[in-house]
Amino acid sequence: RAGQKQDEDNKAKAKPLPKGVVLGPDGKPCRTCTSLSSWRAMTKQKQPDTVATTTPLAGHTSALQSPADCPPDVEQLGRSSWTLLHSITANYPERPTVTQQTETKQFISLFGKMYPCWVCADDFRAWMKEGNEPRVSNREEFGRWACEAHNAVNVKLGKDSFDCNKWEERWRTGCS
Ligand code: FAD
Repeated sequence: RAGQKQDEDNKAKAKPLPKGVVLGPDGKPCRTCTSLSSWRAMTKQKQPDTVATTTPLAGHTSALQSPADCPPDVEQLGRSSWTLLHSITANYPERPTVTQQTETKQFISLFGKMYPCWVCADDFRAWMKEGNEPRVSNREEFGRWACEAHNAVNVKLGKDSFDCNKWEERWRTGCS
């Protein structure tokens, strides 16, 4: 009975999480699944100009400039990951060997398992299972597949879709 009362007290004390804060499989808030603004709402942090640290990173003499030097939120992780993924497609051979195609499929499969935002990873794997397996026969196919994968997330997040006819200009040939 005492234990039950303690549980009830703890539940009453537990504050609801701010909108957008995603829990990890361990039941704790997942930083790489949550936007910085939601994370700040949870920790009630003010937007700092500079975050002081007693253990500066290599190359930093006194302090971390915020937020670029902080662990990534879901958006920064996403931008960096799409940059990597689209850049891989942009550098993919026009005529890949069978081995290259096999290894690329393995990479995408592992990427979908290891992506650090677990909700993103779950949805990405589900999208691939819905008849959207990676198309890796040549650069153009693979680039378009990545564009479609990115658009599936854009749609989910209520963003505009990107014109996939422009994937190569955006990620390989543009801005020369
Ligand atoms: P981003 O969407 O990161 O795009 C970066 C740049 O890519 C854009 O500026 C544009 O120039 C270009 N671009 C945009 N669309 C395309 C396209 N279709 N093809 C080619 N280039 C394009 N975030 C969540 O909150 N929830 C999720 O479930 C989620 N799932 C994700 C799953 C994966 C596999 C990845 C890699 C990321 C996921 N993200 C998710 C992150 C999300 O997609 C964005 O990266 C993040 O919201 C930041 O968006 P952004 O507007 O800065 O630009």
